[in-house]
Amino acid sequence: MTQATRNEAGTGAVEHRVPNSAPEQEPDAGAPTHHRVAIIGAGFAGLGAAISLTQAGHRDLVVLERASTLGGTWRDNQYPGSQCDVPSHLYSFSFAPKPDWSRSFAEAKEIQQYLQDTADRFDVRRHIRFGTEVLDASWDAAMQRWEITTSGGTLSADILIGAYGPLSEPAIPALPGIDTFSGVAMHSAQWNHDVDLTGKRVAVIGTGASAIQIVPSIQPVVGHLDLYQRTAPWVVPRPDREIKPWLRRAYRRVPGLQKLARAAIYWNRELLVFGFSKHPRLMRLPRKVALEHLARQVSDPELRASLTPTFDIGCKRILLSNDYYPALTQSNSSVVTDPITEVCEHAIVTADGVEHPTDVIVYGTGFHVTDHPVAQRIHGADGHSLAVAWSKGMEAYRGSTVAGFPNFFTLIGPNTGLGHSSLVFMIESQLTYVLDCLRTLDERGARTFDVHREIQDAYNDELATQLDQTVWNAGCASWYLDERGRNTTLWPTFTFTYRSMLRHFDADAYDLH
Ligand code: NAP
Repeated sequence: MTQATRNEAGTGAVEHRVPNSAPEQEPDAGAPTHHRVAIIGAGFAGLGAAISLTQAGHRDLVVLERASTLGGTWRDNQYPGSQCDVPSHLYSFSFAPKPDWSRSFAEAKEIQQYLQDTADRFDVRRHIRFGTEVLDASWDAAMQRWEITTSGGTLSADILIGAYGPLSEPAIPALPGIDTFSGVAMHSAQWNHDVDLTGKRVAVIGTGASAIQIVPSIQPVVGHLDLYQRTAPWVVPRPDREIKPWLRRAYRRVPGLQKLARAAIYWNRELLVFGFSKHPRLMRLPRKVALEHLARQVSDPELRASLTPTFDIGCKRILLSNDYYPALTQSNSSVVTDPITEVCEHAIVTADGVEHPTDVIVYGTGFHVTDHPVAQRIHGADGHSLAVAWSKGMEAYRGSTVAGFPNFFTLIGPNTGLGHSSLVFMIESQLTYVLDCLRTLDERGARTFDVHREIQDAYNDELATQLDQTVWNAGCASWYLDERGRNTTLWPTFTFTYRSMLRHFDADAYDLH
């Protein structure tokens, strides 16, 4: 995984380096070169896959992880203030509850520790090859297996599971003149903790979930903070609180109590689907809550006007924060709404001609989601890459398998993302499907599966119809939509319908050989 820092030439161009120089484990030259299953990525999805497979008796697997530690997005997103906005009791594996979460919304460090502990608890760390980046994975039709080239050598596998994460490739805008910037530039997912922001003039670009956590965390120490806002987000209060020690003890002693808490959070979140997907007029309530929140926290009418969103609430992710608006009202903060036209050696220039002196640029500019670079590295039966197969938009069957890519699963694949609940729930649903598929192959003496294209097409047509009625397709620009405006990222309805659909592997939808 990469991290941004000031480069050797002293310019602000974002440079990439491996964050921890010493891998947990060196790639093992004597390791077997063929495996039943190869998993790309050791984040939530990859670890979940490794654990589920080993628990089901599949021991011959390898996890290929390009970084030197596990944790995926929670390893990378260690920026100041990084915290999950799904409550911890739900944002964790159902098979690995953690009774002693310290807060209702855990911080990134605690989630990262949870993943480390869970990997140890289920003894899957030994399957992980750290410092091993997948450079190419190609289906070999003759051998009926995946041939995988990595930075640490080649290997093959019967089954390939892509668990590389939709939010793992930072997107940095190509601002004119950025290479001339002489200060430090870093992306939210590549925070450089060696950089001391005390007294510095810091530009934060973006107003998504990452930026709104960074802003209040750094505002008290920086000299001046310029927030570059292209779109004002909808922000509601964050009901975060410490989970008291007595309650943690209770969760430990009575596991059923934690299950109840998890269920309550789950069903509460599912209720949101009525507003997002079924009856948009229900979104009037969160809209009112957000506008009151803004009015309570920002008294200056001019600032309040510039922070008032102009698109349908819910169309982009609704953000949770109690300290974002207050940070922007401080005397060392400015909200810059004029578009950036240029970056020069010591400043950012906006369309009104103003030069904003800048020492550090923080990109809260999101990720390559619908154009994930890994898609160029995975080649299916006809030799074309996933990127080519997806040139008109990402598509999969049940978010998990792709026609023409035999024996391949994509975890958190197309249209499995959520605007309202825990992705871990979706991952676990997919893992049930993966295990049932492997069981079916074994039972039928088959070696390969490939979903029928017409079944995949029909599935996606149905999804598109459902998505058309949702708030996410209501006309705003967001990372949920690809460059053609097609929503290829979100699941359109209740998560329990997804789970129910993936309870069994539907062999009839596939060519099995
Ligand atoms: P994001 O939601 O994609 O936001 C990117 C921001 O950068 C947007 O405000 C966008 O403006 C702005 N931007 C992009 N290019 C720009 C440019 N050239 N000039 C000015 N502004 C520009 O990215 P994110 O905040 O990293 O969040 C991504 C996702 O990660 C979230 O939706 C969430 O799913 C997850 N996340 C979760 C948490 C959490 O659980 N608390 C925290 C962080 C991230 P526009 O809005 O105008 O496009």
